[in-house]
Amino acid sequence: MIATNAYAAFTNTTPLAPFSFNRRAVKEDDVHIEILFCGVCHSDLHQARNEWGGSQYPMVPGHEIVGKVVSIGSAVSKFKVGQTVGVGVMVDSCRVCRNCNRDLEQYCAEGMTGTYNAQERDGSGITQGGYSTQIVVNERYVLSIADSLDLKAVAPLLCAGITTYSPLRYAGVTKGMKVAVMGLGGLGHMAVKFAVSFGAEVTVLSTSAHKQKDAEALGAKFALSTDKETMEKLKSGFDVIVDAISANHDYSAYLDLLDTNGKLLVVGLPMETPKVSPFSLITNRRSIIGSCIGGIKETQEMLDYCAAHNIVSDIELINMQDINAAYERMLKGDVKYRFVIDLASIK
Ligand code: NAP
Ligand code: ZN
Ligand code: ZN
Repeated sequence: MIATNAYAAFTNTTPLAPFSFNRRAVKEDDVHIEILFCGVCHSDLHQARNEWGGSQYPMVPGHEIVGKVVSIGSAVSKFKVGQTVGVGVMVDSCRVCRNCNRDLEQYCAEGMTGTYNAQERDGSGITQGGYSTQIVVNERYVLSIADSLDLKAVAPLLCAGITTYSPLRYAGVTKGMKVAVMGLGGLGHMAVKFAVSFGAEVTVLSTSAHKQKDAEALGAKFALSTDKETMEKLKSGFDVIVDAISANHDYSAYLDLLDTNGKLLVVGLPMETPKVSPFSLITNRRSIIGSCIGGIKETQEMLDYCAAHNIVSDIELINMQDINAAYERMLKGDVKYRFVIDLASIK
């Protein structure tokens, strides 16, 4: 057993607080990782506060993990002790279904095993995430990370990065396409970076006027989505829109901005069931496509792409003790553009 320091949510209404527990002993195909950095995703807040229902406590959130390999099981072939590695949103899946066999483990027929707030497949308990000093993960779900990049800024790639890279690739975003990104947050700013890097003409659709400068610095145009006139002018103007909004919103208003065959790629996960007008859909033959993170193979491809193109997240490094204040700031949109926890703060 491996003694681990962490921060956990103990109920949906109380602040996260210190928590100690044991990680499992390293099995033959496991990698034991000392966690250096963990990004703070809005999904952590949704689940810590039980906004999606079914939360299990105590819950150690965190699924944007970067660390060093401390030890490996006897059958591990992909990783060596001392190597820099990452762990994202899933730590297991059935490994035999159609989707697991075609590198789409995130759509496992039995449901993927989340890095936290999920049941271990062997019935040994609840998975616990990266707001912690150690983690033990089967090697199939561990990613290689190039040491050339700033590791603390790499951590958010493990969720915010792959969650936006995957649908942009699926939609075939390429040079000259007109792409809009709804919500300039952790996911949104990565969507902008990838779409710009793929050669698209990118516009940020934001509710926050003060983000205009940042959008432009990322290589995008800026439009205030709360301004009716602006939205009217943008009608039928985009080939692809990425919806990375964390709160309830009107989907139809954004659908109307899609050109012929346009695609609304939904990654944001607010609770409310959206109302969508079929008239908005049949106009211009528009479609709505949902997307969940990405498979392990595509996550590695994304990390390698980022290393080759020098793409990382814009981050603010915090100590573990600052997590509750960070959640409040995230809700106010006061983060540029991802909090990352330095786990040295609870070693
Ligand atoms: P975040 O950093 O908090 O960013 C969310 C952004 O949404 C904000 O910056 C804000 O952008 C916009 N927003 C907030 N409240 C709004 C409102 N009332 N109306 C319109 N826009 C609003 O969150 P994140 O970590 O990027 O996560 C975004 C969403 O993606 C979350 O729901 C998360 O759970 C989900 N997610 C999904 C997946 C997946 O696999 N599909 C993976 C990870 C996360 P502006 O200020 O620019 O308007
Ligand atoms: Zn996430
Ligand atoms: Zn499966």
